[in-house]
Amino acid sequence: MADKYEQVLELAKRRGFIWNSFELYGGTAGFYDYGPLGAMLKRRVENIWRDIFVINEGYYEIESPTIGIEDVFIASGHVGGFSDPLTECQKCNEAFRADHLVTDVVDNPDTLSADELTEVIGKNDIKCPECGGKLGKVYEFNLMFKTSIGPGGKRAGYLRPETAQGMFVDFPRLLKFYRDHLPFGATQIGKAYRNEISPRQGVIRLREFTQAEAEIFIDPRDKTHPKFKEIADIALNLFSQEGQAAGEMQKISLGDAVKNGIIAHEFLAYCLALTYQFLVRVGVSPDKLRFRQHMKDEMAHYAADCWDAEILSERFGWVEVVGIADRTDYDLKAHAKQSEKELNVYVSYDTPKKLEKFVVKPDMGVLGPMFKGKAGKIANALKALKPEELSGDVIEVTVDGEKININKDSVKFETVTEEIHGENIIPHVIEPSFGIDRITYSLLEHSYFEEEAKEEEEEGEEGGKEEMRIVLRLPPEVAPVQAAVLPLLTREELIKPANEIVKKLRIKGILVAFDDSGTVGRRYRRNDEIGTPYSITVDYQTLEDSTVTIRDRDTMKQVRAGISDIAGIIYDLIYGGSSFGDAGKKV
Ligand code: AMP
Repeated sequence: MADKYEQVLELAKRRGFIWNSFELYGGTAGFYDYGPLGAMLKRRVENIWRDIFVINEGYYEIESPTIGIEDVFIASGHVGGFSDPLTECQKCNEAFRADHLVTDVVDNPDTLSADELTEVIGKNDIKCPECGGKLGKVYEFNLMFKTSIGPGGKRAGYLRPETAQGMFVDFPRLLKFYRDHLPFGATQIGKAYRNEISPRQGVIRLREFTQAEAEIFIDPRDKTHPKFKEIADIALNLFSQEGQAAGEMQKISLGDAVKNGIIAHEFLAYCLALTYQFLVRVGVSPDKLRFRQHMKDEMAHYAADCWDAEILSERFGWVEVVGIADRTDYDLKAHAKQSEKELNVYVSYDTPKKLEKFVVKPDMGVLGPMFKGKAGKIANALKALKPEELSGDVIEVTVDGEKININKDSVKFETVTEEIHGENIIPHVIEPSFGIDRITYSLLEHSYFEEEAKEEEEEGEEGGKEEMRIVLRLPPEVAPVQAAVLPLLTREELIKPANEIVKKLRIKGILVAFDDSGTVGRRYRRNDEIGTPYSITVDYQTLEDSTVTIRDRDTMKQVRAGISDIAGIIYDLIYGGSSFGDAGKKV
């Protein structure tokens, strides 16, 4: 029997959600097209992400090039270290991720170096999974697609492996845009490219994929979040470092998780809450969702804490779909060094700090006549001395290589108190990074159901029995086609009001399909399969009392409602949280 992945992909291909790219030419691993319904589904997922991060959190979206110059990726560490260990079969030349081949014989293969992996493969006599041939020496393969900018190939460029760098590089501009105030954030939804070695996980591991990332710049001295109270009671499935060591996941409120030190701080926990709300809103099952903390040896050395949102898939197990990290000041420091520009923020203190300062005041009335043209340099040398160097009766300074003794009476020192109003700091970055394609596939899998079909026909037509009903229980807000309008029969008197309804729905921005072919039962099935949440049927009663039936995809229940209200009712069902039971009460 086909597993869930095959069932979902069969439907996705047949109905225009997901297709293999370049199918005409035989396809290439790691590339998929979104067909008409898939592209709309994905767009709706992205728009919900925008609603949460851009509209509600105020992290404006930017758009930077998908090709980056070399400096950017030297600073980010991608040129030097963004690689996976590769081994090739010496017989059939097939390439493999070396760490994936040794999972049965070592515990943490991703922590091993290329040489260590070569040794493990040799010692355990691991052979090519395709042809049984001998595997070659493991080496690090950089995952960035390299290109050149301009003619002549003189200037190296790379397809970006993540959208994040665009936000870091624009930091000085963003800082001005946000009027020099922390915290602030910028977001980006766009393509990222990774030349994955052997993408054998279908739509899960792509060579070109869409990320939605937020880079939130915060004051490192204060990692609380002003809205933390609003989400503190949300309980999530947390698979912490200790939990993983003990093999136990725990459901715990975010308030308690921060209090008990499981999650490093409020700001990070707040991002976990946003991630949870987003994923559930787009249709991921909460019981197939967990947050796994990176183990110490897995976490980037600069990260203060890092959690992955993982979704349970029937074929692939737990799949990382979002990474949420406190990246500290690593990225800004790296870009400051590479660009030789200062990337910091001046922050004012609530109350000025008092600072005791030792000041040296050379007596120019004495030094001037005594040293003439050298007096200025001597004064500066004196000012640079430390208190302990000024303790003797005679003070020695060196000016232009010459040692000069100054009588202590020519210099006054005192301790003054200065008020400091603020300082320059390098912000820390909290980064939630979403893989939109993995999320889109996961919600298709979680909303895919096959059930016994019950007969469902309208009066006045012949029944057509079908054995199975495939239904995509997508949230109405996410479904690509949001309503179907079905005239019971292809007769002018029914088609005319049906077309009017289509028009009214389109004015409200609802994507509607007009379908008049086949039995109504069959048309319902066609729409169930693509997740259309509501079907509106125009029948002969419509001609008498101007009402139509609305059928709910999930319960298959029907209510009658007036044509004049239909667009408002459907809109409220999709976006306004109104219940289907109430939809018919407006008649
Ligand atoms: P990373 O920067 O590796 O933490 O990736 C951030 C997110 O991008 C992950 O959580 C995935 O959802 C997604 N992602 C990373 N690599 C791929 C890939 N090869 N194909 C599809 N999605 C990916």
